[in-house]
Amino acid sequence: MSKSESLFAEAQKVIPGGVNSPVRAFRAVGGTPVFIERAEGAYLYDADEKRYIDYVQSWGPMVLGHAHPDVIEAVIEQAQSGLSFGAPTELETELAEELCRLWPNMDLVRFVNSGTEATMSAIRLARGHTGRDKIVKFEGCYHGHSDSLLVKAGSGALTMGVPSSPGVPASLADHTITLTYNDIEGVKQCFAEIGDQIACIIVEPVAGNMNCIPPVPGFLETLREVCDQSGAVLILDEVMTGFRVSLTGAQGYYGIEADITTLGKVIGGGMPVGAFGGKREIMEKIAPLGPVYQAGTLSGNPMAMVAGLETLQLIQQPGLYDELTAKTDRLVEGVLAAAKEAGIPLTANKVGSMFGFFFTDEEQVTNYQQVMACNTERFNRFFHGMLDEGVYLAPASYEAGFMSAAHSDEDIDATIEAARRVFAKLT
Ligand code: PMP
Repeated sequence: MSKSESLFAEAQKVIPGGVNSPVRAFRAVGGTPVFIERAEGAYLYDADEKRYIDYVQSWGPMVLGHAHPDVIEAVIEQAQSGLSFGAPTELETELAEELCRLWPNMDLVRFVNSGTEATMSAIRLARGHTGRDKIVKFEGCYHGHSDSLLVKAGSGALTMGVPSSPGVPASLADHTITLTYNDIEGVKQCFAEIGDQIACIIVEPVAGNMNCIPPVPGFLETLREVCDQSGAVLILDEVMTGFRVSLTGAQGYYGIEADITTLGKVIGGGMPVGAFGGKREIMEKIAPLGPVYQAGTLSGNPMAMVAGLETLQLIQQPGLYDELTAKTDRLVEGVLAAAKEAGIPLTANKVGSMFGFFFTDEEQVTNYQQVMACNTERFNRFFHGMLDEGVYLAPASYEAGFMSAAHSDEDIDATIEAARRVFAKLT
């Protein structure tokens, strides 16, 4: 028995399914989850000391790679001054200033502790601001696990086969309208019919929770347009794409501006954090300035603030995003070529350092239906083949992959060679 197997057996006695977030349980791909002992740069090391080249990177936050020495040093130094005060610190202002300086339309920003809290609070704010109840989301997009947003959701909700979760009151779910991602006409029609009842659209500007689906040209522009016409708030959920697909996320990449932006992941450099921010007239409705209530004991926690500040400093080195994109291109092109040689039909999507592979004959994958039609059985065998080879991919076919600045060309070439060997066994 491996150490991971025995640790998993112990964990299942005291934690539901042995995990604290469902996808970690390997239910989709089968087998035993790898228990991690430590991580450094591009690598994870499991409890049996096996090394993996990691393309999950804590599901996105570790854009610099794991345990960057400067980030760790900043966290250790802060820890010696206290872990949490529940009172304001200068660090919060520094990080907020950085976000407001970099992001379009971000006049004010509030920190929370997770992406879920950021989107949940942003929705409440949009409802409070407009006085409307209905919200629009897109099938296969995941915005965390708050009630209004667990309707036809992606990520683990999709993997576990419960995109609309029991426990969400029907009366609440009724206010959530779910449209098809990248369906421009569907959006226009919905707003033509009931635009004046809609508080907000929330969208992943690059969908990363049904594998990786970029927006088709005109999709995000249409969302901006219908919101402007109807008075609905456009929430761009950049929890995954923020500081990932570019320094200013998908908004910088595609030139679209949100009314409210939600952030998480990278801005905490691996510590639990989230944020929502946007236009002053909307953000001023939040307590204590306004009547929309939102709070958090650990919000703006100094540990998360220093990790975020240090990470944001480091990722602003000139050329970092070009380098990340070049590495991602190298990986994706290499893996596609290896699949072609082996006669395995494979398609890929990539935006900046986010990417996804699809086991499908289709040349382009742009929507949820196509994602659902992919060969998951083949993905599962690919996943386990790669894991044996020492490459750690997300343990479900509905998740995006992430490159970090710490991955070397040698790591990437080793990954491509591993994929070549695994593809040879998949036919
Ligand atoms: N929004 C998006 C786009 C996400 O990808 C996620 C999580 N991956 C969330 C929100 C929720 O974030 P968290 O898991 O930190 O609650």
